[in-house]
Amino acid sequence: MITIENLSQVYETTSAGRVEALRGVELEVPEAEIVCLVGPSGCGKSTLLRILAGFLEASDGTIRVDGRRVHGADPERGVVFQQPTLLPWYSVRDNVRLAHRYSGNESQKVAADELIELVGLADAADRLPHELSGGMQQRTQIARVLAAGPRYVFMDEPFGALDPFTREQLQAELLRVWARSRPTIVFVTHSVEEALLLGHRVVVMAAGPGRVIEEVRVPDHLRIPVGEGEVSRETLQTRLRDLTAEPGFVALRHEVTAAIIAAHAVI
Ligand code: ADP
Ligand code: MG
Repeated sequence: MITIENLSQVYETTSAGRVEALRGVELEVPEAEIVCLVGPSGCGKSTLLRILAGFLEASDGTIRVDGRRVHGADPERGVVFQQPTLLPWYSVRDNVRLAHRYSGNESQKVAADELIELVGLADAADRLPHELSGGMQQRTQIARVLAAGPRYVFMDEPFGALDPFTREQLQAELLRVWARSRPTIVFVTHSVEEALLLGHRVVVMAAGPGRVIEEVRVPDHLRIPVGEGEVSRETLQTRLRDLTAEPGFVALRHEVTAAIIAAHAVI
């Protein structure tokens, strides 16, 4: 369980002066849930994620993981960015294996080939990054982060640079991946639809200052059950697509979008 208390971040800039990227953020991320942070550009999503990952020390407030305060990065917390950071001269398999070298916990390490299979890259394991599509590169990146066996995975718009079809595939893939080991995931996106499709819980943020304006629990009837190995890639993808057309889903998407727009009307 991650507990965020009264978190604030101020950047001192030469061009824009003091930028209040986050003000008084309070949030609990329960174990084994997917929590999506959604909001427009500049509302502090990336800042919050960087603080969670331990890459940035907050100006004020605390983050606790299982009651312990977070200081700095840790192999138990994996991070996936929008642009995959693969080593160009290493194959898919070697990029995934590389994660083992830096992971702290021997017993948590997951076999590279098992993960490559899980993310659908079994036929591409020997390819180099420049021989992969953007979607395949992001799959590799996800496998690499999981190889260290993290309990927490923080993802910053991981599918933001992908075309809509690949994005849909990767959304389904992420749910399959989550079903395997049920890590706690904090997933940043500016797409309300993506947040509602993937998250058990959606945290809605607004800018000026960056803050949480609403938290929505996605009702069970709007979530697709993803038991391990039970649902094929194609079936899951179709179910996700069908879900976006269901009246309950459409209403929830409308409600969250309206909240974001209302928050911005008062700036
Ligand atoms: P988001 O990811 O939601 O787009 P960010 O966390 O990147 O938001 O940014 C929140 C605010 O903080 C923005 O106003 C942005 O310009 C500012 N900001 C982000 N990083 C820095 C930085 N390193 N230095 C100064 N200002 C920053
Ligand atoms: Mg960002």
